[in-house]
Amino acid sequence: MENLDQFRTETKEWLEENCPPEMRKPMGPGDVVWGGRNCKFPHPDAKLWLERMGEKGWTCPTWPKEYGGGGLSFDENKILQEELMAIRARPALSSFGIWMLGPALLEFASEEQKKKYIPEIVKGEIRWCQGYSEPGSGSDLASLKTKAEDNGDHFVVNGQKVWTSYADDCDMIFTLVRTGPQEPKHDGISFLLIDMDQPGVTTKPIKLISGKSPFCETFFDNAVVPKENLVSELNKGWDVAKRLLQHERNMIAGMGLGGGGSAKKKKDQPISSGMATMAKTYVGEESGKLANPALRQKIASFDINSHAFSLTMKRASEESKSSNSGPSPASSMFKYYGSESNKLRYELMLEAMGTKALGWEGEGFGPAELAITREWLRTKANSIEGGTSEVQLNIIAKRVLDLPQ
Ligand SMILES: Cc1cc2nc3c(=O)[nH]c(=O)nc-3n(C[C@H](O)[C@H](O)[C@H](O)COP(=O)(O)OP(=O)(O)OC[C@H]3O[C@@H](n4cnc5c(N)ncnc54)[C@H](O)[C@@H]3O)c2cc1C
Repeated sequence: MENLDQFRTETKEWLEENCPPEMRKPMGPGDVVWGGRNCKFPHPDAKLWLERMGEKGWTCPTWPKEYGGGGLSFDENKILQEELMAIRARPALSSFGIWMLGPALLEFASEEQKKKYIPEIVKGEIRWCQGYSEPGSGSDLASLKTKAEDNGDHFVVNGQKVWTSYADDCDMIFTLVRTGPQEPKHDGISFLLIDMDQPGVTTKPIKLISGKSPFCETFFDNAVVPKENLVSELNKGWDVAKRLLQHERNMIAGMGLGGGGSAKKKKDQPISSGMATMAKTYVGEESGKLANPALRQKIASFDINSHAFSLTMKRASEESKSSNSGPSPASSMFKYYGSESNKLRYELMLEAMGTKALGWEGEGFGPAELAITREWLRTKANSIEGGTSEVQLNIIAKRVLDLPQ
């Protein structure tokens, strides 16, 4: 206990000294730092903050020190997160490398691969994207057709991926490819790390109705991939793919906690998502309570469910860390519930705000109101990305509840 107290004191001091004041201000949508060879920093202090946190390994606090991670225990990381939250520090780095690829590499990659790729992820030097979905292979991912052929010391990759988020800004893509065309579909897939800076890889943004485009189509046209970029064994990529999806699903589930639940609850404060306070400014109040009793009841029940969900996620995370078992098919339950909960959160906000939550641009709406409209629409994607809600229900039925196939 004394060591943890000492760790807290030292962490506080380090953060006080090293987290630039600019990085303690609320973030706007353009302030996310994704890292990468051509990283765009929204402010010089964001670069400084990433360098300092990356050097300490605190962008990935629990990853092993030998690969550049922070090497913190579960309890130490909890303290670090509390202290970061206490000074309202911005995340130094957001990345698919941290959320998805890194944990899978730590489990499945060779020693040489870990030594090469994990430190780059920790420091945000390489930006990764995910090459899973293909036209015709989304929910039925194992039917994918992009193929990699053995050509001596390298593979030659041909095919197409779709919905590749941010591919046009990324340096590398972790990709599922077919290497065993004769094998049953799950047994003929390999997991390849592909450098996108080569003539054989091109990306094309998919324009959305919003005018923005986080998605791309990614084309492989005789792309060259050295053999040492194969993770795990040939035709054993499905195991890596599934585990990576579990990490992704846990990450998406976390969105369901949003600003609510107990996560941000201060000692002695009632559990609240802050939604009731926000709703009062639009709906009004009677005797200190939200004036619309039906909406009041919905928000109260949302807050209670959010709190229970947050505690369940916390318990599962503590159990898996203490038994070193990592994520499991239970991540599908969290993904399903978290996605639906996040959608409900925004539906309730809309109910409170009325037409004020339906602005797209122009006069008559504040920046926060315009942001809520976009976020409300974005939540609809939560139950599609990382595997749809229907697919999660199938996995829960088969792998968690053990129901007949
Ligand atoms: C915001 C966002 C970001 C994404 N980013 C990436 C990315 O970076 N990289 C990447 O590879 N992919 C990405 N995707 C793609 C995503 O993984 C797929 O959209 C998803 O897996 C669903 O596949 P699909 O779109 O082909 O739908 P389909 O598989 O065609 O499904 C269509 C509908 O049929 C239902 N359905 C299908 N099969 C079943 C079944 N067996 N039982 C019941 N219902 C079923 C589905 O639930 C869905 O409602 C992203 C998607 C979104 C929304």
